[in-house]
Amino acid sequence: MWSWKTEKLLKDILKEKNKWSNILTLTAKIDNRKGIGLISSRNWLNIKADKVYDKNTKIKNLLINTIKENNDIIIVFIDEAQFLTEKQVYELKKLVIDKKIKCYTYWLLTDFQNNFFEWSYALVKEAKKIIKLESKYSSICKICKKNNANINGRFINWKLVTQWKQVWIEGKKNITYKTICNNCFEKENKKKI
Ligand SMILES: [Zn+2]
Repeated sequence: MWSWKTEKLLKDILKEKNKWSNILTLTAKIDNRKGIGLISSRNWLNIKADKVYDKNTKIKNLLINTIKENNDIIIVFIDEAQFLTEKQVYELKKLVIDKKIKCYTYWLLTDFQNNFFEWSYALVKEAKKIIKLESKYSSICKICKKNNANINGRFINWKLVTQWKQVWIEGKKNITYKTICNNCFEKENKKKI
């Protein structure tokens, strides 16, 4: 998946570490591109997350135990947060309020068809502040090269795929994700209908 957000996450973690903040890092078990629990971007460093979660993880228990052991945890960083369930998002919200921790989540809002992930709305609803990450590179459509890309297009063997299941992690079956525009998506999609 597009790694701009992960680069931002890694930079933010480093910034807080330089300030000696006590932090906790989480990532989704499902994202095993470079190994379970590894937060990695394409052209920057990798770090091993402190904890991994899947859709059955009780985030509250996972975090409470760690916070108890390290009383002074103040920031929780969560990568691939589009895989959090609605219940987990609410658990996090409660922890932020009750334990006075900060929680930064990094996520894709939409999938390869430009549809919301199942619980994207919970993240949108509960976030105090949302920052949309953009770069010159990520806004260029990798097919027509125009500067209007807004979809995380899925490619198999370098060919755009517009229909298939929502979650498919990069690296398997020659799958990659590249930013594309609505026009290029629709052009390919029409061939399938
Ligand atoms: Zn295009």
